Amino acid sequence: MGTEKYRKKRDFRKTTEPKEGGRRAGEKPIFVIQKHDAGQRHYDFRIEVNGVLKSRVLPKGPSTDPREKRLMIPTEDHPPDYADFEGVIPEDEYGGGVVLIWDRGTYYSLKEENDDDPPDMEQSLAAGHVVIHLNGQKIRGGYALIRTGKTSRDNWLLIKIKDSDADARRNSVNTEPKSAASGRTLAEIKRGEG
Ligand code: MN
Repeated sequence: MGTEKYRKKRDFRKTTEPKEGGRRAGEKPIFVIQKHDAGQRHYDFRIEVNGVLKSRVLPKGPSTDPREKRLMIPTEDHPPDYADFEGVIPEDEYGGGVVLIWDRGTYYSLKEENDDDPPDMEQSLAAGHVVIHLNGQKIRGGYALIRTGKTSRDNWLLIKIKDSDADARRNSVNTEPKSAASGRTLAEIKRGEG
């Protein structure tokens, strides 16, 4: 637990990424999907669990089509304040490139059938099976996060649950590219505009 690995990878004299902090005691847990234009353009999917952002690289971004399985690769936990980070990481630093807050909002764990209490997120992550409801600006509704193997190093899949927010024709990754936080494009963020 914790964000030591996150801090070790970064030189905070050079990057403006947050060092730590941002515990949101008593507040609804958040999620954020950041578009990251580094060596290879990708998305990062992060959910707040017990004071950290559990993070996964989501190469193609989320889909609203329940038939699509989107690969997610585990990466280091980030501090909750990272959900507010949008900007430029210096090229010679870890993750060098542009970060855009593509979507964000709150989430809650969905009750399993016949369960009285929502499953504990930490336990669900350890078990490799999480079902959550996202309340984003672009992405809403139920999503399943399924680990493809038994160890914490294994990859995951992000799959839209069949509900009223499912839409096989929508492709928000392509049609809604701007920041959910600032309305800016990657290029505007890179130029420091807005
Ligand atoms: Mn990234």
